[in-house]
Amino acid sequence: MQLSARLRMLPPMNLECTTAPPRRASCPTCLRPQTTCICRWIASVPFDASLLILQHPMETANAKGSARLLHLCVPGSVMLSGERFDPLLLSAQLHAGARTPLLLYPGDNAEVAFAPEPVPASRLRLVVLDGTWRKSRKMLHLNPVLAGLPRLSLRDMPASHYRIRKAHAPHQLSSFEAAAYALSVLQNDRAGPAKLAHLLAAFDGFVDQQAGYAAVRGTG
Ligand SMILES: [Zn+2]
Repeated sequence: MQLSARLRMLPPMNLECTTAPPRRASCPTCLRPQTTCICRWIASVPFDASLLILQHPMETANAKGSARLLHLCVPGSVMLSGERFDPLLLSAQLHAGARTPLLLYPGDNAEVAFAPEPVPASRLRLVVLDGTWRKSRKMLHLNPVLAGLPRLSLRDMPASHYRIRKAHAPHQLSSFEAAAYALSVLQNDRAGPAKLAHLLAAFDGFVDQQAGYAAVRGTG
C-alpha cells in the first residue's frame, strides 16, 4: 500500500480545533472570549527556521498559556494539540519540506547541549513542547519519534518575564520565551536580536494584560 493511502486511513490527529464550542462569543483568531482577546499583541516575526509547537491538551484551555500567541506571531508555524501522536503523521510534520527537526529540550544531563546538526536554519524545524515539565516528559515518553530527535538546549538565559504563573521560577522560561530565544539563536543573518526583541515586546504586552485580569480578580 502506498504511504499516501495509508495516511488517509489513519485517524486524524487531535487538533486544537476539536475542543468543545465556547459558551461566550470567542475570537476566531486567538480562540479566547472576545472580552479577553489577545490579538492586539500579535506581531508577525518570520524566522529562517520553521516552528512546530506540540501542545499538551491540558494547556489548550489555560488562559495564561502563551503558545497560541507564539503560533500567531511566527508565520508558517504549525501548532498541534495532543499527548500521543500518530507516529507516521508526526514524522510527516517533523520532516515536512525536507527540514531537519530539532527538539528544544534539555538533554538527559541538563548540562549537555546537543549541538544542532550543521545545517542552515532555513532547513531546520524547531520543535517546541508546550506543557509543564512533567507533561512534556510524558509526551517524550509516549512519542519515541520525539525522544529520538537531536536536541537544542538553551543556556545562560536571562530571567523570565513570565510572572503570571506562580509555579514559574525566574530561571524557567515560558514556551514562548524559550522558542523566541532559540529561533533568534538559530537565525542565519544578524536580524536575530531585533526579531527576538520584537517577539518579547509582544510577550510582555500579553503578560501585562493577563496580570491586569489577575489584579482585578485579586489573585495576582
Ligand atoms: Zn483574538
